[in-house]
Amino acid sequence: AETPAAAPRMPAFDHVPLPYDGPSAAEIARKRAEYLSPSLFHFYSKPLNIVEGKRQYLYDEHGRRYLDAFAGIATVCCGHCHPDVVDAITAQARRLQHSTVLYLNHAIADFAEALASKLPGDLKVVFFTNSGTEANELAILMARLYTGSHDIISLRNSYHGNAAGTMGATAQKNWKFNVVQSGVHHAVNPDPYRGVFGSDAEKYARDVQEIIEFGTTGHVAGFISEAIQGVGGIVEVSPGYLPLAYEKVRKAGGLCIADEVQAGFARVGSHFWGFETHGVVPDIVTMAKGIGNGIPLGAVVTTPDIAQVLTRRCYFNTFGGNPLCTAGGLAVLKVLEKERLQENAFIVGSYLKDRLRGLQEKHEIIGDVRGTGFMLGVELVTDRQLKTPAKEEICNVMEHMKDMGVLVGKGGFYGNVFRITPPLCFSKEDADFFVEVMDIALSKL
Ligand code: PLP
Repeated sequence: AETPAAAPRMPAFDHVPLPYDGPSAAEIARKRAEYLSPSLFHFYSKPLNIVEGKRQYLYDEHGRRYLDAFAGIATVCCGHCHPDVVDAITAQARRLQHSTVLYLNHAIADFAEALASKLPGDLKVVFFTNSGTEANELAILMARLYTGSHDIISLRNSYHGNAAGTMGATAQKNWKFNVVQSGVHHAVNPDPYRGVFGSDAEKYARDVQEIIEFGTTGHVAGFISEAIQGVGGIVEVSPGYLPLAYEKVRKAGGLCIADEVQAGFARVGSHFWGFETHGVVPDIVTMAKGIGNGIPLGAVVTTPDIAQVLTRRCYFNTFGGNPLCTAGGLAVLKVLEKERLQENAFIVGSYLKDRLRGLQEKHEIIGDVRGTGFMLGVELVTDRQLKTPAKEEICNVMEHMKDMGVLVGKGGFYGNVFRITPPLCFSKEDADFFVEVMDIALSKL
């Protein structure tokens, strides 16, 4: 038998974790089973008790360090507990935690201005929400109010949230319950790896046209799409598709909504927003996750003209634009710039993708390596021709990787795609360590 390779050494990191004297993992698991929703799940056979985070690393209750290649589901962008973000939230908490937007406060105004400066064209009016779901709900509402139409087109395999409207727009049975989903049409997914038309953007866009012609009055409210489907398994929509789809939707009177909840905030590396990689300018942009580095915060940004639709009635939420969140969000934007994290995502992300492609040559089970920047996917299949999803194998590889100190996500319709979405400060040494660990874990199959 082959001698198993020794576990590689994690890059050095100068941080001593705080002492932990809280309850054990077993005690927390017992409480979770008794008091928390049974819908919650975890990836590993023995759930981890994560008690601390520092930049791209997480620590369990024994002080064991893990390289975090999932970042709380593509959320922690400038690293766990970044001191600038912590300081900004703490300073704000000392001064004012909450007052609502019924009063003026500079934290919300400053952050809205900074956010608008990151967006192209006339996209400058911000409405803060508490999550990505809420942001997409609002975007869909705005499109419906603005156009007077109810018909929304979204992509199959997409994930846009879990409230009534967004669950309708979500197009994966894994995430749907039997609720009324009126007025939503799901277009054929422009997925270069599994899609019925391969990478043929024109054919996929023709389906959007057919939906408009055969499924609606010819007048639609809007089109919502991610640039790279995250929950859907890091599926990059075919190059050339979005400009064509936007053109058809706009001709039918609809608005184009970019869901940047996962791809936004420099994660794609080459650009700040995912839609920019396709050369389009949306009418409405929704965001969450990276916007607050883990602070519960979301936003919708649109044009002054479209924003007017909300003045017809009262539209309000209690926590949106909470000063703790917006002060934190402003600090996040500053850190992204100060530490040039977009550039890092581009350079290290490209390097990591190349190295993963190298692994693909070695391991037959890797069917596809895709994505951009720090939004990368590795799809495992037991047969490259048939693309049979390797559902059990991926769980084993994840478990081995965790044992060697690496945490990574998984997803996709079949649950067989590694989702590699680390904090944007992930270094080249981290990338090397990640690949070595994945290599060993794959070799154990
Ligand atoms: N849109 C996308 C692309 C997402 O990935 C998610 C969550 O994963 C959402 C919307 C919903 O965001 P939230 O979980 O903050 O409600």
